[in-house]
Order: sequence, then C-alpha cells, then structure tokens
Amino acid sequence: MESKSTTWDIVIVGAGIIGCSIAWFLRNTPYKVLLLERAEPGGLATNAAAGILGPLNETEGPGPLLDLMQESLALYPDFVRDVQATSGLSADYVPSGIVSVATTDSEMAQLEKRWLWQEQRGKDLAFLTGKSLHSTFPELAQTVRAAIHYPHESHVFAPRLLRGLLSALTRQGVSLRPGTSVRRIRPLAGNLLSAETSSGDSIQGRKFVLTPGAYLNEMELPHPVPPVIPANGQILSVRAPDFPMRTVVFYPPKGYFVPKLDGTVVIGATEELVGYQTRVTPGGLMEFLEPLRRVCPRLLDSPLQLTWSGLRPKTPDGLPILGSHPEHPNLLFATGHYRNGILLAPVTGKKISGLLTKQIDARSLMDFRPERFS
Ligand SMILES: Cc1cc2nc3c(=O)[nH]c(=O)nc-3n(C[C@H](O)[C@H](O)[C@H](O)COP(=O)(O)OP(=O)(O)OC[C@H]3O[C@@H](n4cnc5c(N)ncnc54)[C@H](O)[C@@H]3O)c2cc1C
Repeated sequence: MESKSTTWDIVIVGAGIIGCSIAWFLRNTPYKVLLLERAEPGGLATNAAAGILGPLNETEGPGPLLDLMQESLALYPDFVRDVQATSGLSADYVPSGIVSVATTDSEMAQLEKRWLWQEQRGKDLAFLTGKSLHSTFPELAQTVRAAIHYPHESHVFAPRLLRGLLSALTRQGVSLRPGTSVRRIRPLAGNLLSAETSSGDSIQGRKFVLTPGAYLNEMELPHPVPPVIPANGQILSVRAPDFPMRTVVFYPPKGYFVPKLDGTVVIGATEELVGYQTRVTPGGLMEFLEPLRRVCPRLLDSPLQLTWSGLRPKTPDGLPILGSHPEHPNLLFATGHYRNGILLAPVTGKKISGLLTKQIDARSLMDFRPERFS
C-alpha cells in the first residue's frame, strides 16, 4: 500500500524505452520500483523511432560505442521474447539484415572505406556488387553500384515494444505514475533523495535514475549536470503491403527505409538542431526522399500514410550518459542515447540495473560516465 510518506527503493524518471528497460531488468529483484512519466510513455523519442537495430551502420569506427551496441544487439532476441511472453503483445522484431548502399563515385569511396574497418567486425558480412547485389536485392534500382550486407542486424516496431514493456511491467508489479512531471531533484538527509513535481507533491526514494531523454536539462538538479541536446528527426511512413523486400536499407547521405511486418515502410530521417521544436517540413522530408529516387523509386509512388517527428537525446561526444552523479552516488543518469536508444535499451537496462543492485562495477562504464563533460 502506497502512502504519501512511502520511501521507494528506486524511482525512475521518464517512461521511454530506456526507463522502461531499466525497470524491466529490475523486475526480479526485491526492490520497490516507481516509474514516473510526465505525459504519455515514450512520447518524445521512443514512439518516433524507426526501430533499426544496426550497430555497424551507426558508427564511424571501432570503440566503446560499437562494443556497447553489439552487446545490446546480442541481448535483443531474449529481451523481446521475454517481454512478449509476459505481455502477450508482439514487438514485431524482425531479424531482417541491413544493407548500406552506394550510387555515386564518392559514395563508393565512402563504402569501401567503411568495409576496410568493418569487414572483420561482424559475422558473415559481404561486399556486394553487380549481379550478386541485384539478384539478392532485386528491388534496388540499377543505379545502386555496391552494398555492404549486414545479415545479422535487425529491426523492431519501437512503439509496440514500448507498449509490450509497459504492459509486462504492470503485470510484474512495477508502479507507473503517468501525468507526473518532475521539476526538481533534491538530496535529503540520510542519503535519500526527493523529487518535487510540478503539481507540488514530493516523492522520496533511496535511489533515483533519470531517464527523461532530451529533457534532462529542463529539470533542476544538483550540479554538475551533463549536457543533453535535442536533435529533431522528421520521418514518414508509406503504405506498401506488396513491397516484397524485408531488409532495411541505408542510403547516403543519411536516409533509410524499413519495411515493417504490417505492410508499412518507414522512411527517414532528418537531424536538426532546432531546440525543442518537433516540426515536419516539406524541405525536411525532401532531404531523404530526393536521394531515395536513386535507390528505390517505387517507394515514392506508394500512398503516404503518416509524417511525424521526435527529439533524439544527443550529447556533445555522441556517447550515452550512463552512471552516477559524481557527488550523489544514489542519483544515476541513463540518457543521451541519441540515434540508437532503441538498440541500446536492453544493454542499458542490464548495466544500470547492475549498478543499482551492485552486480557490476561502475568502472566498466567509464567511457560513458556523466562527469566526463565537467
Ligand atoms: C525520427 C527518429 C528515428 C529514430 N530511429 C531510431 C532507430 O531506428 N533505432 C534506434 O535505436 N533509435 C532510434 N531513434 C532514437 C531513439 O528513439 C532514442 O534514442 C530513444 O527513444 C531514447 O529513449 P529515452 O527513453 O531516453 O527517451 P524518450 O523516448 O524521449 O522518453 C523519455 C520520457 O521521459 C519523460 N520525461 C521527460 N522529462 C520528464 C520529467 N521532468 N518528469 C517526468 N517524465 C519526464 C518524457 O515524457 C518521455 O516519455 C530515433 C529517434 C527519432 C526521433
């Protein structure tokens, strides 16, 4: 029974994919977990995401981010299976593979450069050209000259995964309080922390995890606070139930399309630093529709279904922020997942729950420590 004076073991602020995944990995612990959400769960970035799980496409070279992404990709099949089994809801996870294509001389040079460092870093990767490329992927236009095929990368329907997680969490006894906006976090005596909400309530906990996505810097927090910048992404979907290709396609400069199981194809996305504006503009959509003409023009004739946008939580160095506040060890951050929060959700849930339950050492997350910007 919850009363005004309840002290929660763990309070998570923000019910996007990251907050929910941390709560999920805490489900078999004895801790009393409260998940606070100011609006609709996943409303900022998670429900906007294309759901691509593609580590090698999203990194410019080897390093800690690629390692973290590959660890998370390996967790995905079990993560989805367990969430689906508990919730009874499908996340439309598809082990589809991904291809990254080139159509011009300069794109070819970039792709070859990529292949040099990637060849040994994934299983069964292939550099395809000519007949082998077009017989494997006949939907791609003849203007596509080469592609790297990543057969073990995949995608998921992010809003469905979130819906399943929320339902599974409720069944596992996690308390969720939507409509609760945290304004300020304050340290109390005895290593406790308190969250003050915009409606004037205060919620007390032994440990807090901040997972507000791009909105971290809107809260009043003990200093130092790591910087998170909103990066707007415009994206759309077309209805194409007869489109036979299942593989995700990346095309330069920053376009992609993702054929979903329900017969829609998601095509994206821009990246704009325009503050907290979530706008959709014709010019923005053209940025990724125009180059699609050289890659798969038939998708441009499919009926437009929806356009939308969302705010990615970006950090100055592109790495997520994972770990404790330098002066308040019971206040943890898990944000800044930028373009890859869906991919990084299971590994973040596993590592942050490991820190909270003292199963892992903070030194294993040194590259992502919050105080690196101070
Ligand atoms: C167009 C687009 C396409 C993308 N495609 C992909 C992709 O293909 N693959 C991939 O891996 N990633 C993708 N991403 C990135 C991914 O969506 C994000 O990295 C991820 O969703 C971040 O999750 P989050 O839980 O940190 O943030 P969010 O989903 O934004 O959730 C944060 C939650 O916290 C709540 N909140 C905020 N402040 C407070 C407060 N003060 N009090 C209470 N609650 C609060 C918010 O309401 C929100 O529900 C994409 C993003 C966009 C915008």
